[in-house]
Amino acid sequence: MKRERNAKDAKKGPTSQLKVNNAAKTIICQTCRQTFLCTVRAKALSEHSENKHSKPLETCFPGNVRNC
Ligand SMILES: [Zn+2]
Repeated sequence: MKRERNAKDAKKGPTSQLKVNNAAKTIICQTCRQTFLCTVRAKALSEHSENKHSKPLETCFPGNVRNC
């Protein structure tokens, strides 16, 4: 039993998880293709869309904010 647990832990190493997280946690502005980490605050995204493009948040980042 103990050996099986150890094998599972080894497969779920931090390296493979990190890759998945990086791929999933990127927000791309649909207007200028600038990328943001998913950890960015929603306020920063709304400031980007409003200040840079004068567009609402949903236009630059449709659906992406809620997924994070
Ligand atoms: Zn933009």
